[in-house]
Amino acid sequence: MSITAEFANRLKRLPPYLFARIDELKEEALRKGTDLIDISIGDPDLPTPDHIVEAMKRAVEKPEHHKYPSYAGMLSYREAVARWYKGRFGVDLDPALEVLSLIGSKEGIGHIPLAFVNPGDIVLCPTPAYPVYSIGTIFAGGEPYYMPLKEENRFFPDFSSIPEDVLKRAKMMFLNYPNNPTSQTATVEFFKEAIEIADRYDIIICHDNAYSELYFDGKKPISFLEVDGAMEVGVEFHSLSKTYNMTGWRIGFVCGNRQVISGLGKIKTNIDSGVFQAIQEAAIVALGSDESVLDRLRSVYQERRDVFVDGLQSIGLDVNRPEATFYVWAKVPGGFTSESFTVHLLEKAGILGTPGNGFGEPGEGYIRFALTVDAGRLGEAVSRIRDAL
Ligand SMILES: *Cc1c(COP(=O)(O)O)cnc(C)c1O
Repeated sequence: MSITAEFANRLKRLPPYLFARIDELKEEALRKGTDLIDISIGDPDLPTPDHIVEAMKRAVEKPEHHKYPSYAGMLSYREAVARWYKGRFGVDLDPALEVLSLIGSKEGIGHIPLAFVNPGDIVLCPTPAYPVYSIGTIFAGGEPYYMPLKEENRFFPDFSSIPEDVLKRAKMMFLNYPNNPTSQTATVEFFKEAIEIADRYDIIICHDNAYSELYFDGKKPISFLEVDGAMEVGVEFHSLSKTYNMTGWRIGFVCGNRQVISGLGKIKTNIDSGVFQAIQEAAIVALGSDESVLDRLRSVYQERRDVFVDGLQSIGLDVNRPEATFYVWAKVPGGFTSESFTVHLLEKAGILGTPGNGFGEPGEGYIRFALTVDAGRLGEAVSRIRDAL
């Protein structure tokens, strides 16, 4: 005898997992001893910079950090965030009321709908996209309304195509620039348009700025919060994960509109107990890093981008050169679908990318590659792709 442990309806509402077949083929390739170039995952291959690791070692020895942390995050951490925002974006934040620590930004993104979305409320979600926007919505009982990001609109949603009744029922909108997976960066004009819609229809904007520091050619991406009116309608999620190669540390933050921050804070107070203080102390050191540390990381990614994009273009693939993020969003060659091209590259070239439709149906016809192996391997990947075509 055994219990049925039937999953709740919210789990049954999850979109189908599209990578099962690819996962299987990857396992098979590894079993066969294939020299796999895995450029499917957005996780930096380089280690966390030494000065941050050293700060963590010192912090972990302090008994005062071994207790439950404060829910909102140490004030010193939130002050470091506010200083960083002022220095990087010229945005003023009140560290006590307009900044909240997160256990990685995924945690905050996944939980924020619980604070504001009632069953049946609409949440405007981009697609293709990071899956957590729509999944957090579904877990809160909300209805995702998908805004397609199309190349002909420079991968921005077309607000004018959203029906009036949808806008009226919408409670929240997620946006993400520099964008995963398309690598598009935002413009002030685009954010202004989003703020206007939010203001007119009373919609909370949640902007995910996880990739703001991963830019090329000196073109710094903007913050949503530096645009006039943004603080009145929304918040920005940020993370130390991609900027400082700290994905495993689980620390991020959200900042902006204080009413929105306080709603998410209420949810978090009731389900988690904050971020280990030693990690917050190391994060303060990270946020105070000398810009040369980040410049070095950016130049590593920029070299990779150029080797890979030049290479793919030279063998006839249709790819744009990203201005930010470590993703290359490439059109699959004629005759292939996202999935069939991904499988073809895996079987014929030992290269693993991510099929674009896995991020949402309008991603069909694309494949995403992550610049998370060294330039030599990316050069090797290009020759193998050439041979497989
Ligand atoms: C990687 C990533 C994040 C960051 O996640 P953390 O939980 O902070 O590690 C957030 N948004 C997008 C779009 C990402 O790709």
